[in-house]
Amino acid sequence: MGRMHIILDDITKIKADAIVNAANNTLLGGGGVDGAIHRAAGSELLEECRKLNGCETGRAKITKGYNLPAKYVIHTVGPVWHGGNDNEDQLLAACYRNSLELAIENGIKTIAFPSISTGVYRFPVRRAAKIALGEIFRFLNGNSSIDKVVMVCFDEKTMEAYVEALDEIEEKR
Ligand code: ADP
Repeated sequence: MGRMHIILDDITKIKADAIVNAANNTLLGGGGVDGAIHRAAGSELLEECRKLNGCETGRAKITKGYNLPAKYVIHTVGPVWHGGNDNEDQLLAACYRNSLELAIENGIKTIAFPSISTGVYRFPVRRAAKIALGEIFRFLNGNSSIDKVVMVCFDEKTMEAYVEALDEIEEKR
């Protein structure tokens, strides 16, 4: 597996240099993983987020982690699934790529991702898993400064999708 790991866990419990938040365009909190991260980090996270003036879909912004075990939170905004013809695949890939680029700029060596867009935003999870892992591997191949990337799955179905996507990628190598 090398630098890529897939685990079943709650991302708010992960001790990494950074965890990634599947945020919305306002960056002012919401449901799902976003709500969980804000609850665990405390109100200072929202205060810092208010100063960021939101975030475009596919882009990423960084804050401190406050009460989280992680030092930083990288907030990225996944695409809402509209059937697949609205640039969803490219935007999802951009979330992973831009989050990893921001991590490198900030000296981050260990980073944990949730399954971006596959909750409330309804992106099909198998398709999302292939895109996510493809993009992460492409990035790791070109960058040696990241030591560890963890995909944190919150339920069994999501975990299965990512493990299968990883198997497919490894078979092709
Ligand atoms: P989106 O709006 O991008 O779809 P969601 O938060 O609705 O974001 O869902 C994204 C994924 O995050 C889903 O698989 C959901 O089950 C998962 N998730 C929710 N809470 C947590 C958590 N505490 N840790 C990790 N993943 C979580």
